[in-house]
Amino acid sequence: MTREEGRGKREECIPVAALLLAAATAANLYAQGPQLSPEVRQYVSVDTPLVAITHVKLIDGTGAPAAPDQTVVIANGKIQVVGAAATVKPPAGARVMDLTGHMLIPGLIGMHDHTFYLTYGVERPIQSNYSYPRLYLGSGVTTIRTTGSMSPYAEINIKAEIDRGDSPGPHMYVTGPYIIGPKPDPRLEPFGALRAATPEAARRAVAYWAEEGATWIKVYASISRAQLAAVVDEAHQHGMKVTGHLCAVGYREAVALGIDHLEHTLFANSEYDPQKQPDVCPPTYRSAMTNLDIGGEPVRATFRDLVSRGVGMTSTLAVYECTVPGRPTRHAHVLEAFSPEMQREDSVRFATVSQGKVASYWPAVFKKTMDYEVAFVKAGGLLVAGVDPAWCITAGRGDQREFELLVEAGFTPVQAVQIMTANGAKVLGILDRVGTVTAGKNADLAVIRGDLTARAADIENVTLVFKDGVGFDAVRLVEAAKGQVGLR
Ligand SMILES: [Zn+2]
Repeated sequence: MTREEGRGKREECIPVAALLLAAATAANLYAQGPQLSPEVRQYVSVDTPLVAITHVKLIDGTGAPAAPDQTVVIANGKIQVVGAAATVKPPAGARVMDLTGHMLIPGLIGMHDHTFYLTYGVERPIQSNYSYPRLYLGSGVTTIRTTGSMSPYAEINIKAEIDRGDSPGPHMYVTGPYIIGPKPDPRLEPFGALRAATPEAARRAVAYWAEEGATWIKVYASISRAQLAAVVDEAHQHGMKVTGHLCAVGYREAVALGIDHLEHTLFANSEYDPQKQPDVCPPTYRSAMTNLDIGGEPVRATFRDLVSRGVGMTSTLAVYECTVPGRPTRHAHVLEAFSPEMQREDSVRFATVSQGKVASYWPAVFKKTMDYEVAFVKAGGLLVAGVDPAWCITAGRGDQREFELLVEAGFTPVQAVQIMTANGAKVLGILDRVGTVTAGKNADLAVIRGDLTARAADIENVTLVFKDGVGFDAVRLVEAAKGQVGLR
């Protein structure tokens, strides 16, 4: 059953008039946004209902080439007009912002954007309710899917606070706790992952979190075929979707079982390991990847299955870069966000990696994954991206690093923007509302000083972020999170 069919089933007893009224009210709220609290107001720099951004270079997220000297008019939270500055005149009464020397892109859609940080080595999750929403929004990320929750109620509470206008932050699609099983997972169980001993246990958990407001379920490495099948069936009955960081189940098996999405692209696909046994995560699967032929039949077979079933994958290059010796895996802007304790821990991580005290396959697997992602898109695959804030990279700043790495992998800046905006919206089912700079859509936008087509690293210079047409001072948001990751 599809998500839409699931929703229809749940709503069939509600009168049509009530549904229409509810839809109209929801649409209005989305366009106008909630009353913003003083806590949120302190970050707002543009709050007039009519704004004309002029002389900006635009990458609109559709895959169309970058267009110089554009004007974009925002009215009541929506994009009203997009066109050449020479022909589109700002309407009377609009606040005109001449953004010569800047770029405009759709707000980023972070598709693996947790609300916690996971330390390297000890792998301790640190819930970051205060710092992360500010870092995400201040880095140009206007929508996140949390893709695995260590503290599901904390996440549901943050989303509610943001939606009420009490806290700044992105639109959120929250996930239930990680579902694993039946084998024990000593890494995740202490932090609240649900080990489903039976398929029935998996169903109970999915049904519970559907009622609590989760819209996605994340399954993790030890999940077996029987448990995954139960999760997928139950989730679809509740109108939810399922994504996974897999290992015991290969991607082709998971697609056949109806999974909606896959995390980490090649990094988590064990099916190319000749040692692979059913329902077992082979310890050799990453070293086996070093010899993988990206153009070979096994990879093409995976891509055919994913493309024909419309199953996308999330690129998370930024987090895996943390384990590759010699990579630039220390970023001033990430260290700034860390508390002193976290900075100390990161020094240990950095020393370990730079001395090469990591598995020797990492450099080759990192490069293979880049090639795998490029080949997947060439094969017609739906690639999205997220930060997976962990190991050395944080919320928001990591999404920006992800953009740089996609360009390094071989995508054009226009493709990388599309992957990080429209494609994410497509997977979330909200492409009709956000994800591209198109008249009629919600004004979720990021303004960047510089030119992404000339220098990918300019993505780090986000100056202004529109969410529902309200303009947030990006620098002030990031400043507020300084030194806070690890504390709150
Ligand atoms: Zn993750």
